[in-house]
Amino acid sequence: MTQTTAMTAQALAIQQFALLDDIDCDARIVAARQKLGTRCVVLGHHYQRDEVFRHADFIGDSLKLSRMAAQSDAEYIVFCGVHFMAEVSDILSRPDQTAILPDLAAGCSMADMADLANVERCWRELSQVLDVEQTVTPVTYINSAADLKAFCGQHNGIVCTSSNAQKVLEWSFARREKVLFFPDQHLGRNTGYRMGIPLDDMVVWDFSKPMGGLSEEQISKARIILWKGFCSVHQMFRPEHIDDFLKRYPKTIVIAHPEASFEVCQKANYIGSTEYILKTVREAEPNTRWLVATELNLVNRLNREVKHQGKEVHFMSPTICMCSTMFRTDPQHLLWVLENLVEGHVVNRIRVPETEARYAKLALNNMLNVV
Ligand code: SF4
Repeated sequence: MTQTTAMTAQALAIQQFALLDDIDCDARIVAARQKLGTRCVVLGHHYQRDEVFRHADFIGDSLKLSRMAAQSDAEYIVFCGVHFMAEVSDILSRPDQTAILPDLAAGCSMADMADLANVERCWRELSQVLDVEQTVTPVTYINSAADLKAFCGQHNGIVCTSSNAQKVLEWSFARREKVLFFPDQHLGRNTGYRMGIPLDDMVVWDFSKPMGGLSEEQISKARIILWKGFCSVHQMFRPEHIDDFLKRYPKTIVIAHPEASFEVCQKANYIGSTEYILKTVREAEPNTRWLVATELNLVNRLNREVKHQGKEVHFMSPTICMCSTMFRTDPQHLLWVLENLVEGHVVNRIRVPETEARYAKLALNNMLNVV
């Protein structure tokens, strides 16, 4: 069979699964899981839709799931999340384990905002002004492609997540005086500011412009050079959403993910990762009202979970904005990969090339050793 014929056959097979309703899928997923037993583990990110989330053996944010991927013994790791997460799973797992992403189109628009060619160009241009290897630590948010993690590994850099960004920046500043932070400018800025770095000492590198659109003086003075990337979901939250809500419900407690803008985070009572948001609201006093700036599936689930304690959890934006790429993983795709595994076929394997994986693992291990 040629590659094109194989791809067409695969597309036809997925189309047949797409016609199944969620209830049929649910029963067949449970049956396939039983047949696979401990040979297969399903990891689910907090932003997954309910119909998929309920089938996860382990749930968590990027940091928690990357640790689980590293510790799992299962032969197959089915990652219900987005592409970079399955790559991390492949990098951290043993050679005899297989990472699978149910829908290959489940990417991350923020991760796509930084590619290796542009980051290497940035590094070359920075080297015209600075001794980059001596003065700059490259830090990539885990929401990035494996080749960017490898770039960090090759240049004594590190990976971070929204849970550990501050500790990672402290690690970086203990080694070199500046940080190049990609791809999310907001996580970098919000974290730097909380560490006492003034906004003037953080500049934005516009990858569409020569020298990032910055002068030599700006580059020399900066402590953090922020890549001009953002999350399309978290940028929907606006400070006026908080103002409007507080006018109606003045005692509301506001909590934001650090991928939200600086202005939103400045108005929030608490800032933190998805795991932090869940923990904070779960442990809060009963009968409290919360306004949350993160993805809709998580907010809705949390609201249902804490309702019996008299707590109310509200989504910050008046516009419905779930992560469309996380949403791509549906029960139909999950069933398709699981039933293929039952029949001995691996579909949608995610495999990072060996050299790239080796360097990316250096940067990931730097992070895992910090926290
Ligand atoms: S919520 Fe934003 S950062 Fe997270 S996967 Fe979706 S697009 Fe990427």
